[in-house]
Amino acid sequence: RIRFDSVSKNYGPVRVVDNLKLDIAKGEFVSLLGPSGSGKTTLLMMLAGFEEATEGQILVDGRAVNDLPSYKRDMGVVFQNYALFPHMTVGENIAFPLQMRGIGKAEIAERVARALDMVQLGHLAGRKPSQLSGGQQQRVALARALVFEPRVVLMDEPLGALDKQLREQMQLDIRALHNRLGLTIVFVTHDQGEALTMSDRIAVFNKGKIEQIGSPRDIYDEPKTRFVAEFIGETN
Ligand code: ATP
Repeated sequence: RIRFDSVSKNYGPVRVVDNLKLDIAKGEFVSLLGPSGSGKTTLLMMLAGFEEATEGQILVDGRAVNDLPSYKRDMGVVFQNYALFPHMTVGENIAFPLQMRGIGKAEIAERVARALDMVQLGHLAGRKPSQLSGGQQQRVALARALVFEPRVVLMDEPLGALDKQLREQMQLDIRALHNRLGLTIVFVTHDQGEALTMSDRIAVFNKGKIEQIGSPRDIYDEPKTRFVAEFIGETN
């Protein structure tokens, strides 16, 4: 269970996340949806431990994590620019974070195999990233985020670089993975359709605040503000 308790973030004089409250249940798929610059990424970075909150607390299972370094937070992170190491094979890319933590060879081999299995890429472990499609590369990035078997996975526009067809396939794959592993997923997107198809709940962001939060149905059928109505309406 994740809680943002009146969290704010300032960059210099500019407040980009403004006194924000948000609860995310265990096993929930929550999308942060909103226009560019509305603070979605900043919120995710604070949860991941890559940015510090200026005010407020972030709680995980009731415990404040503000001072907990990112690697102790039991969260996997996937970005749009997933930056695989080009000179390493798929297997080596996934093994890398494990090696950095000094984990033994046998355990690494086991964990890499399991992570590749989760994204159905076991057969491509020996390839270099350049020998993979965009969707396969994104799956490798996903496997790398899953290699410590975190309960929470944070994704920042992970499908932004993919063409429409691949994007739709990956949406289904990520949702299936979420269901199968019982993951909590926090998913940043500015794509209304993507948020509507994938999420249990959607938090619509505007200028560092949540305008509305609810099920895709709620958000779609009963937008509470003009901003939400117009933003959601842009897809149709
Ligand atoms: P996008 O979809 O474009 O990533 P976003 O909703 O995720 O948008 P953020 O990336 O959280 O928005 O950015 C919110 C605001 O904070 C923006 O105005 C951005 O310019 C500003 N910002 C982000 N990072 C920094 C930084 N390191 N220093 C100063 N300003 C920043």
